Amino acid sequence: MNEGRFSGEASNVGTVGVRTQTAPSRFGDGEPIVEAIDLNRDYPIGDSVVHAVRAINLSVGRGELVAVRGRSGSGKTTLLNLLGGLDRPTSGRVIVDGHEVSAMDESELVAIRRRVVAFVFQAFGLVPFLTATENVEVPLRLVHAEPRERDRRVADLLEVVGLGDRARHRPHELSGGEQQRVALARALANRPSLLLADEPTGQLDSDTGHVIMQLLRSIVRSEGITAVVATHDPAMLDVADRILELRDGAIVGG
Ligand code: ADP
Ligand code: MG
Repeated sequence: MNEGRFSGEASNVGTVGVRTQTAPSRFGDGEPIVEAIDLNRDYPIGDSVVHAVRAINLSVGRGELVAVRGRSGSGKTTLLNLLGGLDRPTSGRVIVDGHEVSAMDESELVAIRRRVVAFVFQAFGLVPFLTATENVEVPLRLVHAEPRERDRRVADLLEVVGLGDRARHRPHELSGGEQQRVALARALANRPSLLLADEPTGQLDSDTGHVIMQLLRSIVRSEGITAVVATHDPAMLDVADRILELRDGAIVGG
């Protein structure tokens, strides 16, 4: 499944928005993009064990935006890291767009993180000495995208996130909200199937956070991707299709 994602390097680099023709088959068809099956992650601490994620079963369909809420320490970050292959489960399985992430070796995980899964973090994580354009280019360079396609994709993405006029700014020349827009554009560069965002509005004021959430909502629709967003932000909860509540590592609602 999805062989093309790992070959034909630049084949999945194209113009933003051209998905409209294929969109109907990509939305609401119930096809799961991310599945967690009996997922557990324990952290041994001295003689005891923290059950950071326990017995989670989850299926999120294409085009769905799921918010994961729960107070600090409830397991949100651990769950997102497991879904994206940044961490390995103690037991259970994770399947993303048909790939069994939980069974992969490190080189396969690298490929998945370049092509299939993308992360957005609270602290933006931009490279400080690169411009907005260059930051968005990074993932495209990693997959050796053809330069003209790459330039077009970057320009389109900066337009999508409303930063066409900030392309040559470096992160310190951008507001927090603008930096998070660049991070979103970068995350989308290689057309991931799954976007994982860990408290993406945590460092933003509430108005800016709201704008970022609306942007995320519209991107999930226009790009036909699936998003799982950890947040306590009420603005996020408004735009989510579904809300999962975590308590002590387990899902208690949603
Ligand atoms: P949240 O993102 O909801 O704040 P986390 O997933 O970061 O929660 O943490 C869940 C639990 O796992 C917490 O009790 C935390 O202390 C523990 N934990 C997280 N990462 C580690 C780690 N690397 N080693 C030990 N315990 C950890
Ligand atoms: Mg966290």
